[in-house]
Amino acid sequence: MLQQTRDHTLITATATLSSESHGGRAKCLQRLIRLDLPVPTTVALSFDAVHRIAQGAISDLGSLLAPFGAAPLLCVRPSSQDPDWGGPGAILNIGMSDETCAALIPVIGEVAAKALYLRFVQTYAIDVARLDPDMFDDLPEDLGAALERALAAYEDEAEEPFPQALEVQLSEVLQSMARAWEGTSARLLREAKGAPADAGLGLVVQRLALGLGRGESGSGVLQIVSSQTGMAQVTGRYLSQSQGREALEPGARALFLERDPRGPSLEEEVPEAFAALKAHAARMRERLREEMQVEFTLQDGQLHILDGVRVSRSSRAAVRIAVQLARDGIIPRDEALMRIEPKALTELLHQQLDPNAPLDVLARGVAASPGAATGRLVFSADAAQLAAARGEACVLVRRETGPEDVRGVHAASAVLTERGGMTSHAAVIGRGLGVPCVVGASEIRFELRMRRLVMPDGRVFSEGDTLTVDGTGGRVLAGSPALQEPALDDAFQELMSWADACRDIDVRANADTPQDAQTARNFGAQGIGLCRTEHMFFDAERLRAMREMIFANVAEDRRVALDLLLPMQRADFSALFDIMAGMPVCIRLFDPPLHEFLPTDRTGLRELAEALDLPMSDVTRRVEALAEYNPMLGMRGVRLGITVPEIYDMQARAIFEASVAASRKGEPVVPEIMIPLVSARREVELVKTRIDAVAAAVRNETGQDVAFRLGVMVETPRAALRAGDIANHADFLSFGTNDLTQMTYGLSRDDAGRFMSAYVSAGVFPEDPFHTLDTDGVGELLAIGAVRGRGARPGITLSICGEHGGNPESIAVCRDLGFDYVSCSSFRVPVARLAAARLAI
Ligand code: PEP
Ligand code: MG
Repeated sequence: MLQQTRDHTLITATATLSSESHGGRAKCLQRLIRLDLPVPTTVALSFDAVHRIAQGAISDLGSLLAPFGAAPLLCVRPSSQDPDWGGPGAILNIGMSDETCAALIPVIGEVAAKALYLRFVQTYAIDVARLDPDMFDDLPEDLGAALERALAAYEDEAEEPFPQALEVQLSEVLQSMARAWEGTSARLLREAKGAPADAGLGLVVQRLALGLGRGESGSGVLQIVSSQTGMAQVTGRYLSQSQGREALEPGARALFLERDPRGPSLEEEVPEAFAALKAHAARMRERLREEMQVEFTLQDGQLHILDGVRVSRSSRAAVRIAVQLARDGIIPRDEALMRIEPKALTELLHQQLDPNAPLDVLARGVAASPGAATGRLVFSADAAQLAAARGEACVLVRRETGPEDVRGVHAASAVLTERGGMTSHAAVIGRGLGVPCVVGASEIRFELRMRRLVMPDGRVFSEGDTLTVDGTGGRVLAGSPALQEPALDDAFQELMSWADACRDIDVRANADTPQDAQTARNFGAQGIGLCRTEHMFFDAERLRAMREMIFANVAEDRRVALDLLLPMQRADFSALFDIMAGMPVCIRLFDPPLHEFLPTDRTGLRELAEALDLPMSDVTRRVEALAEYNPMLGMRGVRLGITVPEIYDMQARAIFEASVAASRKGEPVVPEIMIPLVSARREVELVKTRIDAVAAAVRNETGQDVAFRLGVMVETPRAALRAGDIANHADFLSFGTNDLTQMTYGLSRDDAGRFMSAYVSAGVFPEDPFHTLDTDGVGELLAIGAVRGRGARPGITLSICGEHGGNPESIAVCRDLGFDYVSCSSFRVPVARLAAARLAI
């Protein structure tokens, strides 16, 4: 007896079911019954029972059927632990037979009764007896004749008459559903959705609410919130004389739910049932603490609630729903925060593909910078700028981007490159600017001379043709599918304020320009954690001065060029200090190798020779002399700072003059200056000596105190290992995990995109280490650096400023190591704020 009740349980208000033993649907139905909602009689079968049924053992059908009384019609639905894991389709109308059909005719009419029977014979034959669906291909129009033919066809194929006994039908249905769940393809499918290999299936057997009858009858779903926006709104569908989505003639018609000028509605036709439905949905929201979609059937005006399912929702709706539940006191704020996946916020910050839009996907690549944008194809930064000047949206296509493309990225609506990975140039710049970007799209043939792209299916897109780049999904699409606007609405802001109240690690932004800094502030950054000053040198005038500086043979000429750059840099820093209004601003001294500022093609070289009034051969020689075999490990960062110290001198002066000016206007500004690519203590000492000298000079000239904090980027393995030594000269250490990952693995950040997906799918790397911090290797260097740095200087500020700073898993690592802040591109600041909050809950 005990065994039996555990196997199948009549769901009552006092029954105790759990989703771990009977599945989510059974659990939910039990809750609905406890709420006193009109749920038809339902019996739940446990995972164990269903497993035994799959093995061929059906226990005591008599006691299972007892609660349903004499000759009921039933339906069986799946009840897996997590509804997302799916399950076999529901089977309705179990119990239809010659006898029940005849008995139904006086109640619902001959046509409807026969239509139900016919439908059941077909479903049973195909889904339960697994007969060939073709056998029903040419049934006659006339329903009676069709039914007869279907029954005969069944008998032919199955070599036995269509089963008439409810017990037989039900046991076959239960077995077929149980076996379908245990089949290999179903198992693989659910495992792909995260189900464990041994996930169980429960089943619920429910009295069928017909949806057919002489009074208003039909079926539908209703929810009181919009799945798109999360705003209160009655939505769903209702079809009279129907079961589920299937119309059963005669009299089938779709009604609006709410009163509507365009036609008849449920609200007008059966006002009490409509009001009750809305009230039930509201009750479910309050008591189940979730927005639920109500699945219902009306039979002769009588309302039956068949099920409640969590409302499906876009990311923006998810935020509003969670916030509104917390505002209404239904869930605590912490729970609202835990209900939103931080990564989902990215969808709110950018334009996105409309989830309902039909898509023509041409090719895939690395989803390097989120958001979607449409534009005409252009193949150079110049063309992008021209398009922008005409007010035309464009997609910049390059094999890969370099510094000379930055202005093009600024001007473009989206970027598409053949090469590159998550931390390649285009990816970093795109994320910083919020420009959608797909890199490493090597399935596409980039015929750049011809200015065209050949897609994997052979379609050709030339300059001027329209494409859409989906940087969220890493896809390239034809034409201009519908897009959704960003949603930084009140619900988003409120959620963010709750996140800020509970997190215990700061979030700053990587921002290089005043525009970036403004975005950073808008997104709630607590300062700038990395200003890559080289990104300030890309406009034409600065580039010219920069090139003059590079070409100067003697210190005096170099100074003249740097004197031109000084006021520009000062103005940049002043703007940053103004915008950040007293928040910390961390400025990194010049980092890239000089050759990045020089042209590579003949035209560029000729233009440069003209501008500098030098023979072409001199220019070419000089450019060649600066070329390096491995520039990423060559003369860049602090190495450049030590060999050509005038650059850092100029930058330090610009920083101090700007901070003095800002301090005169208001609160004292204490800039943070950061040295890149350090690997030895002596490098820091040398740079520090010169910066101190510049500070002293500015102090003398202005008569103002010049305070600053000096920090070191830990982005070579040696710097992490020697952090104790280095910390003696540093107020802060900021881990540059892009270079640190590159150097720890010996893996080029610009080339890894080519084989990264092969590596990840072969399981060599669990994930792209440029995207998610490699906790085992690079993470250990972080830990060593943090412990040694703190050991030497207990109060030292620790942070991360590589791309990982915006990644929730990596933020967890940094928080565990006791870092003071993470810094990430502005558009990821909200993601980081929420991720950090969830770690503290
Ligand atoms: C880094 O290396 O992690 C970093 C932040 O610097 P960049 O990406 O500019 O090399
Ligand atoms: Mg770096």
